[in-house]
Amino acid sequence: FASSVKRLMIIEEMDAIFEEQIRAMGIDVEIGKNKLPLCGEINADIIRTALGESTSEIAVPVEGLPQRPPVFCPSCAHRGLFTILSKLKTFVSGDIGCYTLGALPPMNAMHSVIDMGASISAAHGMAKVNAIAGRDEKPVAVIGDSTFFHSGITGLLSMSYNAGNALVIIMDNRTTGMTGGQENPGSGVTLQGVPTRQVEIAPLVKALGIENVAELNSYDLKETEAAIKKGLETPGPYVLIDKNPCVLRYKIRKPAITVEPDKCTGCRACLKVACMALGLVASGEKQKVRVDPNVCNGCGVCAQMCKFDAMHTIEGENNANL
Ligand code: SF4
Ligand code: SF4
Ligand code: SF4
Repeated sequence: FASSVKRLMIIEEMDAIFEEQIRAMGIDVEIGKNKLPLCGEINADIIRTALGESTSEIAVPVEGLPQRPPVFCPSCAHRGLFTILSKLKTFVSGDIGCYTLGALPPMNAMHSVIDMGASISAAHGMAKVNAIAGRDEKPVAVIGDSTFFHSGITGLLSMSYNAGNALVIIMDNRTTGMTGGQENPGSGVTLQGVPTRQVEIAPLVKALGIENVAELNSYDLKETEAAIKKGLETPGPYVLIDKNPCVLRYKIRKPAITVEPDKCTGCRACLKVACMALGLVASGEKQKVRVDPNVCNGCGVCAQMCKFDAMHTIEGENNANL
């Protein structure tokens, strides 16, 4: 190939893996790491600069656009869990998935994320260090079903075997939500779309030697808070499993909630759940909350934050396609 081209360029991110091998074969490389950075992502402008061409105009964002920080989808089950973890201000060892968004404001309820499956093993290690240091703090690990199947099982087995002391919350939404809804061993379908054995998490967790295993419904904030407190107060490994499916993957639709403007005081408590369906509108000298009915998916988590009975869920068929 090299002998068939006039100029040979090797464009690879990070280390010069191909380039070193190709140069070692005695092949001339005109542009490689002599012009391209060793660190960071390579984009079109970096390549143009390396080629000696002029760079494109960089578009400046239009001013005045509303800020849209990344948040969970409307009615995602993770919202209720992180609302409570944020309230309890407990240490949370996180993992890789949509639920990693719990680290961002306003939740700020995930304090470490290392790699796939590390939520459990890191929480286990932290609990051991806490015990040595005499700190009475039981860490929480949050992990999704896909990540648990991928690499969380070994960490939980280690916690069971090595007399650990952490609360592990497994968000079993029966899909790989963050990367677009791929199948996993819990969904009952292979990646090729072939029906297969569906692995249930609770029996698997018990088989690893964990005695305290309970279900969690993170759409119910009071129940979630009570379940987490019980898990934190009970000595030893404790596993909570939330079995609410990913609403995006399974196309679950519910009627939007309503807000009574006369009852809304503008206290903003409901905004703590960080749902993109909620916004503020001017009402006299105040700002009151309004719900975008095209975005809200009626989970009712925000309504549970309202002490003024201003938000109401509407009963309706849910079209879960499970
Ligand atoms: S894709 Fe699913 S799991 Fe991820 S934020 Fe949306 S509803 Fe939640
Ligand atoms: S919590 Fe209730 S009263 Fe407070 S802003 Fe929201 S809807 Fe209004
Ligand atoms: S009920 Fe509240 S939290 Fe749930 S989707 Fe609608 S606005 Fe968001």
